Amino acid sequence: MGISRRGKLVLLVLSISLMLGSACGRTNKDVSSSATSAQLQSQNELSASAADSGKEISSETASEETPTPTSSPTPTSSPTPSPTDTPSPTPTKVPEYIEPIITGGAVWYDGYVDPRTVRAEIVSNPSDVAVLVNKYYASPESYVPELVYAKYSAGQQLRPEAADAWIKLHDACMAETGEDLYLISGYRSWETQTYSFNNAITRRGLDKTCCKNAYPGRSEHPLGLALDINTSDDPQIRDNFIYTKAGQWVAENGYKFGFIWRYPQDYGHITGYGVEGWHFRFVGVDVATDMHDNNIMTLEEYYGKPQVLPNNE
Ligand SMILES: [Zn+2]
Repeated sequence: MGISRRGKLVLLVLSISLMLGSACGRTNKDVSSSATSAQLQSQNELSASAADSGKEISSETASEETPTPTSSPTPTSSPTPSPTDTPSPTPTKVPEYIEPIITGGAVWYDGYVDPRTVRAEIVSNPSDVAVLVNKYYASPESYVPELVYAKYSAGQQLRPEAADAWIKLHDACMAETGEDLYLISGYRSWETQTYSFNNAITRRGLDKTCCKNAYPGRSEHPLGLALDINTSDDPQIRDNFIYTKAGQWVAENGYKFGFIWRYPQDYGHITGYGVEGWHFRFVGVDVATDMHDNNIMTLEEYYGKPQVLPNNE
């Protein structure tokens, strides 16, 4: 013999109550107690219903109205707590650091610290397009982003997000100003950055190097998110690019495509670098727009982490 009519009703109500409990995102514990009360309620209602409308029950059905075991909850309808119900402690991330390779305290040159004399925290989110990297926050040496070859450059590479945004920036600049932007330098490996820093010391002296050149790990170029740019008719790094028609347009409109001018004039005491009229950083449209709308000039200020000045150490 199959499940009785009353038994089917009980199961139907029980199933619906279980589904509703699950759809509302309640815990298994809630569902369990809800199912129990719903089941009791439905059984009471069925009893009342059967008592009130006894005429509707045929004699044949009535003769078979002996409750069967199938109308009782089966073990499968009693949810068991899942492992997610057990809260697990979130491990506290312990920052890692690159210790100074020249000990004895920070050494400053005209307001710019020698990065080799300060300790830098290794960032835990190097793949975040808006990550803050500077003399005090370093990218891990092992981090190499996904890279693609960038358009409007001589074989330079960028992260895909930055490469796509670069095309849009270039094309919009061309459409509005007629200027043909050109990417001189994008991604640089840790090794290239090491060579660049050491070569700069030889070429221009330590004081200027600390002002203009990033030490390995403290550079944005190994993130694949930094762009040194000029126009195609002068594909060289120039201090005055930012004051050209193309540079001014990028400074004013870059945020719409996710770019910020990274080292503005007169912000060296905050960024740790002197003005770089050619260096832009992709941070994503959301952060760039947020900075623009709130007149925040540097990523350090955006995160509330300006560099530590000598008299504040
Ligand atoms: Zn650069």
